[in-house]
Amino acid sequence: MSHVVTLNAGSSSLKFSLFTLHKDDPVAICTGAVDRIGSPEATIAAKTSDGRVLGGDGVGPIADHVAAMNRVLDLLTQWFPKAEIVAVGHRIVHGGPDHDRPIQLTPDSLRALEDLAPFAPLHQPYNLQGVRAAIERFPQAVQVACFDTAFHRHHPWVNDTFALPTEYYDMGVRRYGFHGLSYEYIADHLAKTAPLLHGGRVIVAHLGNGASMCGLIHGRSVGSSMGFTALDGLPMGTRCGQLDPGVVLYLMQQKGMTADEITELLYCKSGLLGLSGLSNDMRTLEQADTGAARRAISYFNFRARRELGALAAVLGGLDAVVFTGGIGENSALVRERVCVNMGWLGIELDHDANTEHARIISTPLSRVQVMVIPTNEELVIARAAARFVYPHMYEALLDKAAARTG
Ligand code: AMP
Repeated sequence: MSHVVTLNAGSSSLKFSLFTLHKDDPVAICTGAVDRIGSPEATIAAKTSDGRVLGGDGVGPIADHVAAMNRVLDLLTQWFPKAEIVAVGHRIVHGGPDHDRPIQLTPDSLRALEDLAPFAPLHQPYNLQGVRAAIERFPQAVQVACFDTAFHRHHPWVNDTFALPTEYYDMGVRRYGFHGLSYEYIADHLAKTAPLLHGGRVIVAHLGNGASMCGLIHGRSVGSSMGFTALDGLPMGTRCGQLDPGVVLYLMQQKGMTADEITELLYCKSGLLGLSGLSNDMRTLEQADTGAARRAISYFNFRARRELGALAAVLGGLDAVVFTGGIGENSALVRERVCVNMGWLGIELDHDANTEHARIISTPLSRVQVMVIPTNEELVIARAAARFVYPHMYEALLDKAAARTG
C-alpha cells in the first residue's frame, strides 16, 4: 500500500508522520518527534496510531537536522519495511509572495525557496535540509512543499503591507502571516462539522510554543497577527511578539548590539522565557507560581485579548473563537483569562466545560461560540502530498474541501 511521510522541522525539533493513502483521506499510522537536536540529550519518540510506542529516549547526541532527518528516515524504514513511500510532504515556513498553495519540489523551485531563507533564517534552512535528505533517501518519491504562508496569500492589501515606501513592498517586505497549515485544518474542520460558523466570522487562536491569531471570513484569512517573520504579534515561548521597531534601533545604536545578538534575543531569549526568567513552557509556568511566571502568563493573556479585540474589529463582528495549539488545546487557565469579561463582544465562557476541555466551552446563550479543536497540520501536508501522487483519487476530496473553504 502507498504511504506518505510528512516532515515538519523546527529550530531544534523535527516532527514526522507516516500516513497510509486510503481512498477517502490519508490515515496516520505513526507519528513522532526528535527533540533537542544539537544537544547531547536529543530524544526520539514515536508511536503508532493504536498507541504502540516505537521510539524511545537515549538515542545519544544528534548533531544537526540532517542527522535527525536521516535517523528518522532510517527508523521509519526499519519500523515499516513494507511501506511504499510514494511522497514526502514538507512543512516549509516561507513560500514568499507567489505561493498560495502547495507545490511539487523541483531543483528550480528548491533554489527559489533557498532565496527566501533570509525571510525566515531560523526555520527555512532546516526545512530545506529536510527536503534534501528526503530526496537522497527516497529519490523516486514526489517531494511536496506545503507553505505556512500560503493560506494568507489572498488576505486584503491593508493586511499585507507595512506603511513603508512602496518599493519595500515590491522587494517582498510584506505581512505574510504564518501557521497557515493549522488554520487550513481548522477551516476545513469547521466546514465539515459547523458549516454555519464556517460561513461566518471566526477568530482562530493558534497558541503553542509559536503563537498567532487569524481572522477568517468564510474560511479565508482576512487578517493575521504575524507579519513579515514569525516574530510578530503574540508573545511566544521564546519569541517577543509585537515590538516597537525603535527598540531594535536603540539596541543597535545605543547598546552596540550586533544583528546576530538581537536575532538571538528576539527569537530565543524573549517571550515567556524572557519574562519569567524560568521557562518557555506554559505548563511549567502554570505550576511554578512565582511572581515572574505569573507576570509572563498575564502578558501572554493580555496580548491575546488585545489581538482578539483587534481581529474582531477587522472582521466586523464575531461568530466563533477556536482555540488550538498546545496551549490553546490544553490550558484551561489561558482560555479562561483570554475570554473573561468579553461579554461586550458576545463571549460567555462555560467555566465547567472549559475546565473539562470540552469541544464547545461557551455557554448555550453565548452569542459567540467558543471551541477547542486540536489542530492537525500533518494531515493537511499528507493530503497535499497525496494529491500530487494520485490526483484522480484525491481530486474529488480536495474539490470538496476547496468548495467548503470558499
Ligand atoms: P505546541 O508548540 O503547539 O506543541 O505547544 C507547546 C506549548 O503547549 C508549551 O508551552 C506547553 O507547555 C503547552 N502545553 C501543553 N500541554 C499543556 C497543558 N496541559 N497545560 C498548559 N500548557 C500546556
